[in-house]
Amino acid sequence: MTPDFTADLDALDAAHLRRRRRVVQRYDGVRLTVDGREMLAFCSNDYLGLAQHPALIEAACEAAARFGVGATASPLVCGHSSAHEALEAELAAFVGLPRALYFYAGFAANVGIVPALVGRGDAVFSDTLNHACLIDGARLSRADVQVYPHADVDALGRLLAASSARRKLIATDAVFSMDGDIAPLPALLELANRFDALLLIDDAHGFGVLGEGGRGTAAMFGLRSPRLIVMATLGKAAGVAGAFVAGEDDLVEWIMQRARSYIFATAAPALIAETLRVSLKLIAAEEWRRQTLQDLNRRLRAGCAKVLPSGWQLTASKTPIQPIIIGDNASALAAMSGLWQKGFWAPAIRPPTVPEGTARLRLSLSAAHTLGDVDQLIEALASLAPQTPG
Ligand SMILES: *Cc1c(COP(=O)(O)O)cnc(C)c1O
Repeated sequence: MTPDFTADLDALDAAHLRRRRRVVQRYDGVRLTVDGREMLAFCSNDYLGLAQHPALIEAACEAAARFGVGATASPLVCGHSSAHEALEAELAAFVGLPRALYFYAGFAANVGIVPALVGRGDAVFSDTLNHACLIDGARLSRADVQVYPHADVDALGRLLAASSARRKLIATDAVFSMDGDIAPLPALLELANRFDALLLIDDAHGFGVLGEGGRGTAAMFGLRSPRLIVMATLGKAAGVAGAFVAGEDDLVEWIMQRARSYIFATAAPALIAETLRVSLKLIAAEEWRRQTLQDLNRRLRAGCAKVLPSGWQLTASKTPIQPIIIGDNASALAAMSGLWQKGFWAPAIRPPTVPEGTARLRLSLSAAHTLGDVDQLIEALASLAPQTPG
Protein backbone atom coordinates (compact mmCIF):
# COMPACT_ATOMS: atom_id res chain seq x y z
CA MET A 1 0.00 0.00 0.00
CA THR A 2 1.32 3.47 -0.80
CA PRO A 3 1.60 5.76 2.20
CA ASP A 4 -1.30 8.18 2.44
CA PHE A 5 -0.39 11.75 3.25
CA THR A 6 -3.81 13.24 2.53
CA ALA A 7 -4.98 12.85 6.12
CA ASP A 8 -1.73 14.37 7.37
CA LEU A 9 -2.22 17.39 5.12
CA ASP A 10 -5.86 17.69 6.19
CA ALA A 11 -4.71 17.77 9.80
CA LEU A 12 -2.35 20.64 8.98
CA ASP A 13 -5.23 22.52 7.34
CA ALA A 14 -7.45 21.94 10.37
CA ALA A 15 -4.78 23.35 12.70
CA HIS A 16 -4.16 26.36 10.40
CA LEU A 17 -0.61 25.09 9.98
CA ARG A 18 -0.47 24.47 6.24
CA ARG A 19 2.25 26.56 4.60
CA ARG A 20 1.75 28.05 1.16
CA ARG A 21 4.24 29.79 -1.06
CA ARG A 22 3.62 32.97 -3.00
CA VAL A 23 5.28 33.40 -6.35
CA VAL A 24 7.21 36.68 -6.61
CA GLN A 25 7.54 37.97 -10.15
CA ARG A 26 9.78 40.92 -9.42
CA TYR A 27 11.92 42.20 -6.55
CA ASP A 28 12.50 45.93 -6.20
CA GLY A 29 13.86 46.49 -2.71
CA VAL A 30 10.90 46.00 -0.37
CA ARG A 31 8.44 46.29 -3.26
CA LEU A 32 7.60 42.82 -4.50
CA THR A 33 5.30 42.01 -7.39
CA VAL A 34 2.92 39.14 -6.70
CA ASP A 35 0.16 38.21 -9.16
CA GLY A 36 0.88 41.47 -10.98
CA ARG A 37 0.26 43.46 -7.81
CA GLU A 38 2.94 45.44 -5.97
CA MET A 39 3.17 44.48 -2.32
CA LEU A 40 5.07 46.39 0.35
CA ALA A 41 7.12 43.70 2.10
CA PHE A 42 7.84 43.59 5.82
CA CYS A 43 9.02 40.01 5.60
CA SER A 44 12.47 39.93 4.07
CA ASN A 45 15.78 39.51 5.90
CA ASP A 46 17.47 41.90 3.48
CA TYR A 47 17.99 44.22 6.44
CA LEU A 48 20.44 46.57 4.76
CA GLY A 49 18.66 46.65 1.40
CA LEU A 50 21.64 45.23 -0.48
CA ALA A 51 20.05 42.31 -2.35
CA GLN A 52 19.52 44.31 -5.55
CA HIS A 53 22.37 46.76 -5.15
CA PRO A 54 23.80 47.69 -8.59
CA ALA A 55 27.39 47.18 -7.43
CA LEU A 56 26.55 43.66 -6.28
CA ILE A 57 24.74 42.82 -9.50
CA GLU A 58 27.72 44.09 -11.48
CA ALA A 59 30.12 42.03 -9.37
CA ALA A 60 27.98 38.92 -9.94
CA CYS A 61 27.91 39.46 -13.72
CA GLU A 62 31.63 40.08 -13.98
CA ALA A 63 32.42 37.07 -11.84
CA ALA A 64 30.06 34.89 -13.90
CA ALA A 65 31.97 35.89 -17.02
CA ARG A 66 35.28 34.99 -15.38
CA PHE A 67 34.43 31.91 -13.28
CA GLY A 68 31.25 30.61 -14.93
CA VAL A 69 28.08 30.01 -12.94
CA GLY A 70 28.78 26.66 -11.31
CA ALA A 71 31.55 25.80 -8.86
CA THR A 72 31.85 22.33 -10.50
CA ALA A 73 32.80 20.43 -7.34
CA SER A 74 33.07 20.48 -3.58
CA PRO A 75 35.59 22.89 -2.05
CA LEU A 76 38.02 20.09 -1.15
CA VAL A 77 38.11 18.93 -4.76
CA CYS A 78 38.21 21.83 -7.25
CA GLY A 79 35.32 24.04 -6.18
CA HIS A 80 37.38 26.41 -4.02
CA SER A 81 38.32 29.38 -6.22
CA SER A 82 40.48 32.43 -5.66
CA ALA A 83 37.18 34.27 -5.05
CA HIS A 84 36.31 31.96 -2.14
CA GLU A 85 39.84 32.19 -0.79
CA ALA A 86 39.81 35.99 -0.84
CA LEU A 87 36.34 36.12 0.68
CA GLU A 88 37.38 33.95 3.62
CA ALA A 89 40.39 36.15 4.37
CA GLU A 90 38.20 39.25 4.22
CA LEU A 91 35.51 37.72 6.44
CA ALA A 92 38.09 36.77 9.08
CA ALA A 93 39.57 40.27 9.03
CA PHE A 94 36.07 41.79 9.17
CA VAL A 95 35.07 39.97 12.35
CA GLY A 96 38.56 40.14 13.82
CA LEU A 97 39.13 36.40 14.18
CA PRO A 98 42.11 34.39 12.89
CA ARG A 99 40.32 32.38 10.22
CA ALA A 100 36.99 31.98 8.44
CA LEU A 101 35.44 29.17 6.40
CA TYR A 102 32.68 29.90 3.88
CA PHE A 103 29.67 27.55 3.54
CA TYR A 104 27.04 27.58 0.76
CA ALA A 105 24.20 28.00 3.30
CA GLY A 106 23.73 28.79 6.96
CA PHE A 107 21.64 25.71 7.58
CA ALA A 108 24.38 23.55 6.13
CA ALA A 109 26.97 25.39 8.19
CA ASN A 110 25.38 24.63 11.54
CA VAL A 111 24.52 21.02 10.80
CA GLY A 112 28.17 20.62 9.83
CA ILE A 113 29.87 22.71 12.51
CA VAL A 114 28.24 21.26 15.63
CA PRO A 115 28.97 17.58 14.83
CA ALA A 116 32.51 18.57 13.85
CA LEU A 117 33.08 20.06 17.30
CA VAL A 118 31.32 17.57 19.59
CA GLY A 119 30.30 13.92 19.55
CA ARG A 120 29.47 11.04 21.86
CA GLY A 121 30.64 11.75 25.40
CA ASP A 122 30.41 15.50 24.84
CA ALA A 123 27.57 17.89 25.59
CA VAL A 124 25.81 20.70 23.74
CA PHE A 125 24.06 23.38 25.82
CA SER A 126 21.38 24.91 23.63
CA ASP A 127 18.99 27.84 24.18
CA THR A 128 15.41 26.65 23.84
CA LEU A 129 14.70 29.25 21.14
CA ASN A 130 17.69 28.36 18.97
CA HIS A 131 17.27 28.14 15.23
CA ALA A 132 16.28 24.78 13.75
CA CYS A 133 19.71 24.20 12.20
CA LEU A 134 21.52 24.54 15.54
CA ILE A 135 19.02 22.08 17.00
CA ASP A 136 19.52 19.65 14.12
CA GLY A 137 23.29 20.07 14.30
CA ALA A 138 23.19 19.17 17.99
CA ARG A 139 21.04 16.11 17.28
CA LEU A 140 23.32 14.95 14.47
CA SER A 141 26.37 15.29 16.70
CA ARG A 142 25.18 12.48 19.03
CA ALA A 143 26.43 14.58 21.93
CA ASP A 144 24.23 14.86 25.01
CA VAL A 145 21.89 17.81 24.29
CA GLN A 146 20.94 19.98 27.24
CA VAL A 147 18.35 22.62 26.46
CA TYR A 148 18.29 25.63 28.79
CA PRO A 149 15.38 28.07 29.18
CA HIS A 150 15.60 31.07 26.87
CA ALA A 151 18.55 33.33 27.74
CA ASP A 152 18.60 31.93 31.29
CA VAL A 153 22.23 32.31 32.32
CA ASP A 154 21.69 30.90 35.83
CA ALA A 155 19.99 27.77 34.56
CA LEU A 156 22.78 27.30 32.03
CA GLY A 157 25.37 27.73 34.79
CA ARG A 158 23.70 24.98 36.81
CA LEU A 159 23.66 22.60 33.83
CA LEU A 160 27.33 23.29 33.12
CA ALA A 161 28.29 22.80 36.75
CA ALA A 162 26.55 19.43 36.82
CA SER A 163 28.06 18.22 33.54
CA SER A 164 30.93 15.78 33.39
CA ALA A 165 31.06 15.80 29.59
CA ARG A 166 34.49 15.64 28.03
CA ARG A 167 33.93 18.62 25.75
CA LYS A 168 31.22 21.22 26.27
CA LEU A 169 29.72 23.48 23.62
CA ILE A 170 27.30 26.31 24.36
CA ALA A 171 25.32 27.10 21.22
CA THR A 172 23.05 30.10 20.84
CA ASP A 173 21.48 32.42 18.33
CA ALA A 174 23.02 35.86 18.89
CA VAL A 175 19.81 37.58 17.78
CA PHE A 176 16.79 35.29 18.08
CA SER A 177 15.17 34.97 14.70
CA MET A 178 11.53 34.95 15.75
CA ASP A 179 11.73 37.40 18.69
CA GLY A 180 14.50 39.80 17.72
CA ASP A 181 16.04 39.86 21.18
CA ILE A 182 19.78 39.58 21.79
CA ALA A 183 21.42 36.73 23.72
CA PRO A 184 23.36 37.66 26.89
CA LEU A 185 26.66 36.90 25.17
CA PRO A 186 29.08 38.41 27.73
CA ALA A 187 27.54 36.28 30.50
CA LEU A 188 27.59 33.21 28.25
CA LEU A 189 31.26 33.75 27.48
CA GLU A 190 31.97 34.09 31.18
CA LEU A 191 30.32 30.71 31.74
CA ALA A 192 32.32 29.25 28.87
CA ASN A 193 35.50 30.43 30.57
CA ARG A 194 34.44 29.22 33.99
CA PHE A 195 33.41 25.75 32.82
CA ASP A 196 35.98 25.27 30.08
CA ALA A 197 33.40 25.26 27.26
CA LEU A 198 33.30 26.57 23.71
CA LEU A 199 30.74 29.23 22.78
CA LEU A 200 29.22 29.01 19.28
CA ILE A 201 27.07 31.97 18.34
CA ASP A 202 24.82 32.06 15.28
CA ASP A 203 24.80 35.70 14.21
CA ALA A 204 22.46 35.30 11.24
CA HIS A 205 20.50 38.39 12.26
CA GLY A 206 23.21 40.51 13.89
CA PHE A 207 25.86 40.35 11.18
CA GLY A 208 25.82 43.58 9.15
CA VAL A 209 23.30 45.13 11.51
CA LEU A 210 24.87 45.30 14.98
CA GLY A 211 28.29 46.40 16.16
CA GLU A 212 30.69 48.94 14.75
CA GLY A 213 30.64 48.80 10.96
CA GLY A 214 28.10 45.96 11.13
CA ARG A 215 30.71 43.55 12.49
CA GLY A 216 28.03 41.72 14.42
CA THR A 217 26.75 40.99 17.89
CA ALA A 218 30.06 39.75 19.33
CA ALA A 219 31.71 42.96 18.15
CA MET A 220 28.88 45.00 19.66
CA PHE A 221 29.73 43.47 23.06
CA GLY A 222 33.48 43.69 22.39
CA LEU A 223 33.90 39.94 22.97
CA ARG A 224 37.30 38.39 22.37
CA SER A 225 38.22 34.87 23.31
CA PRO A 226 39.80 31.76 21.85
CA ARG A 227 36.63 29.99 23.04
CA LEU A 228 34.43 32.11 20.79
CA ILE A 229 33.21 30.67 17.50
CA VAL A 230 31.21 33.05 15.32
CA MET A 231 28.91 31.73 12.65
CA ALA A 232 26.88 34.16 10.53
CA THR A 233 24.79 33.90 7.40
CA LEU A 234 25.29 36.01 4.31
CA GLY A 235 21.86 35.75 2.70
CA LYS A 236 20.31 38.20 5.15
CA ALA A 237 21.91 41.60 5.84
CA ALA A 238 24.72 40.82 3.39
CA GLY A 239 22.06 40.40 0.70
CA VAL A 240 23.63 37.44 -1.10
CA ALA A 241 23.87 33.80 0.10
CA GLY A 242 25.84 31.40 2.22
CA ALA A 243 27.42 31.62 5.65
CA PHE A 244 30.74 31.45 7.39
CA VAL A 245 32.26 30.24 10.61
CA ALA A 246 35.19 32.06 12.17
CA GLY A 247 37.46 31.34 15.09
CA GLU A 248 40.89 30.06 16.03
CA ASP A 249 43.02 28.68 13.19
CA ASP A 250 43.11 25.05 14.27
CA LEU A 251 39.47 24.98 15.20
CA VAL A 252 38.39 26.26 11.78
CA GLU A 253 40.82 23.88 10.09
CA TRP A 254 39.24 21.02 12.06
CA ILE A 255 35.75 22.09 10.97
CA MET A 256 36.98 22.02 7.37
CA GLN A 257 38.33 18.50 7.89
CA ARG A 258 35.16 17.20 9.55
CA ALA A 259 32.01 19.14 8.60
CA ARG A 260 30.15 16.75 6.29
CA SER A 261 27.94 19.50 4.88
CA TYR A 262 31.12 21.28 3.79
CA ILE A 263 32.99 18.30 2.45
CA PHE A 264 30.18 16.49 0.65
CA ALA A 265 28.46 19.42 -1.06
CA THR A 266 29.22 21.39 -4.18
CA ALA A 267 30.83 24.72 -3.35
CA ALA A 268 28.79 27.90 -3.73
CA PRO A 269 29.40 29.47 -7.13
CA ALA A 270 32.46 31.74 -7.24
CA LEU A 271 30.21 34.55 -8.44
CA ILE A 272 28.47 34.45 -5.07
CA ALA A 273 31.80 34.78 -3.28
CA GLU A 274 32.86 37.71 -5.48
CA THR A 275 29.50 39.40 -4.90
CA LEU A 276 29.90 38.96 -1.15
CA ARG A 277 33.29 40.65 -1.26
CA VAL A 278 31.62 43.80 -2.59
CA SER A 279 28.80 43.44 -0.08
CA LEU A 280 31.29 43.33 2.81
CA LYS A 281 32.76 46.64 1.65
CA LEU A 282 29.32 48.27 1.51
CA ILE A 283 28.33 46.87 4.91
CA ALA A 284 31.40 48.47 6.49
CA ALA A 285 31.26 51.74 4.57
CA GLU A 286 27.57 52.66 4.53
CA GLU A 287 26.70 53.45 8.13
CA TRP A 288 23.53 55.24 6.95
CA ARG A 289 21.89 51.88 6.33
CA ARG A 290 22.14 50.97 10.02
CA GLN A 291 21.08 54.50 10.98
CA THR A 292 18.01 54.18 8.76
CA LEU A 293 17.12 50.90 10.45
CA GLN A 294 17.18 52.59 13.83
CA ASP A 295 14.98 55.45 12.62
CA LEU A 296 12.49 52.98 11.13
CA ASN A 297 12.56 50.96 14.32
CA ARG A 298 11.69 53.94 16.49
CA ARG A 299 8.89 54.97 14.12
CA LEU A 300 7.38 51.49 14.05
CA ARG A 301 7.46 51.03 17.81
CA ALA A 302 5.99 54.46 18.53
CA GLY A 303 3.22 53.87 15.99
CA CYS A 304 2.41 50.38 17.23
CA ALA A 305 2.21 51.64 20.82
CA LYS A 306 -0.68 53.84 19.66
CA VAL A 307 -2.65 51.53 17.40
CA LEU A 308 -2.18 47.89 18.39
CA PRO A 309 -5.31 46.27 19.82
CA SER A 310 -5.12 45.02 23.38
CA GLY A 311 -3.60 41.58 23.53
CA TRP A 312 -1.31 42.22 20.57
CA GLN A 313 2.20 42.97 21.69
CA LEU A 314 5.53 43.94 20.18
CA THR A 315 8.50 42.10 21.69
CA ALA A 316 11.26 44.11 23.38
CA SER A 317 13.42 43.89 20.26
CA LYS A 318 16.02 46.53 19.34
CA THR A 319 16.83 44.78 16.07
CA PRO A 320 15.10 44.93 12.67
CA ILE A 321 13.07 41.88 13.68
CA GLN A 322 9.90 43.34 15.19
CA PRO A 323 7.34 40.62 15.88
CA ILE A 324 3.81 41.37 17.03
CA ILE A 325 2.71 38.49 19.27
CA ILE A 326 -0.96 37.73 18.66
CA GLY A 327 -1.48 34.33 20.27
CA ASP A 328 -3.62 31.85 18.41
CA ASN A 329 -2.89 30.62 14.92
CA ALA A 330 -6.18 31.64 13.33
CA SER A 331 -5.94 35.25 14.56
CA ALA A 332 -2.38 35.56 13.35
CA LEU A 333 -3.43 34.25 9.95
CA ALA A 334 -6.38 36.64 9.85
CA ALA A 335 -4.05 39.55 10.60
CA MET A 336 -1.72 38.48 7.84
CA SER A 337 -4.51 38.22 5.29
CA GLY A 338 -6.05 41.52 6.42
CA LEU A 339 -2.71 43.22 5.77
CA TRP A 340 -2.29 41.35 2.52
CA GLN A 341 -5.59 42.72 1.23
CA LYS A 342 -4.28 46.20 1.90
CA GLY A 343 -1.05 45.55 0.01
CA PHE A 344 1.29 44.61 2.88
CA TRP A 345 3.23 41.40 3.17
CA ALA A 346 3.84 40.53 6.82
CA PRO A 347 4.16 36.83 7.55
CA ALA A 348 2.26 34.98 10.25
CA ILE A 349 4.65 32.67 12.10
CA ARG A 350 3.05 29.71 13.83
CA PRO A 351 4.11 26.69 15.84
CA PRO A 352 6.29 24.70 15.57
CA THR A 353 8.47 27.61 14.44
CA VAL A 354 7.41 29.46 17.63
CA PRO A 355 5.99 28.07 20.91
CA GLU A 356 2.28 27.15 21.11
CA GLY A 357 0.05 30.13 21.81
CA THR A 358 2.57 32.70 20.53
CA ALA A 359 1.62 32.89 16.85
CA ARG A 360 2.73 36.23 15.56
CA LEU A 361 3.26 38.63 12.72
CA ARG A 362 6.99 38.72 12.21
CA LEU A 363 7.64 42.19 10.84
CA SER A 364 11.11 42.86 9.59
CA LEU A 365 12.56 46.20 8.65
CA SER A 366 15.00 47.00 5.88
CA ALA A 367 17.10 50.05 5.07
CA ALA A 368 15.15 49.94 1.79
CA HIS A 369 12.00 51.01 3.69
CA THR A 370 11.10 54.68 4.10
CA LEU A 371 9.50 56.24 7.16
CA GLY A 372 6.43 56.67 4.93
CA ASP A 373 6.33 52.91 4.35
CA VAL A 374 6.25 52.34 8.10
CA ASP A 375 3.52 54.97 8.54
CA GLN A 376 1.40 53.20 5.94
CA LEU A 377 1.86 49.89 7.72
CA ILE A 378 0.82 51.42 11.04
CA GLU A 379 -2.28 52.86 9.42
CA ALA A 380 -3.13 49.44 8.03
CA LEU A 381 -2.57 47.80 11.42
CA ALA A 382 -4.85 50.39 13.02
CA SER A 383 -7.65 49.67 10.57
CA LEU A 384 -7.32 45.92 11.21
CA ALA A 385 -7.64 46.23 14.92
CA PRO A 386 -10.93 44.91 16.33
CA GLN A 387 -10.59 47.50 19.10
CA THR A 388 -7.93 50.03 20.09
CA PRO A 389 -6.45 50.17 23.57
CA GLY A 390 -7.53 52.82 26.08
C1 LIG B 1 18.35 31.94 8.35
C2 LIG B 1 19.06 31.34 9.49
C3 LIG B 1 19.93 30.28 9.30
C4 LIG B 1 20.06 29.57 8.00
O1 LIG B 1 20.84 30.29 7.09
P1 LIG B 1 20.62 30.05 5.53
O2 LIG B 1 21.82 30.69 4.93
O3 LIG B 1 19.33 30.70 5.19
O4 LIG B 1 20.59 28.57 5.32
C5 LIG B 1 20.66 29.84 10.38
N1 LIG B 1 20.51 30.40 11.60
C6 LIG B 1 19.64 31.40 11.82
C7 LIG B 1 19.50 31.97 13.19
C8 LIG B 1 18.88 31.90 10.78
O5 LIG B 1 18.00 32.86 10.99
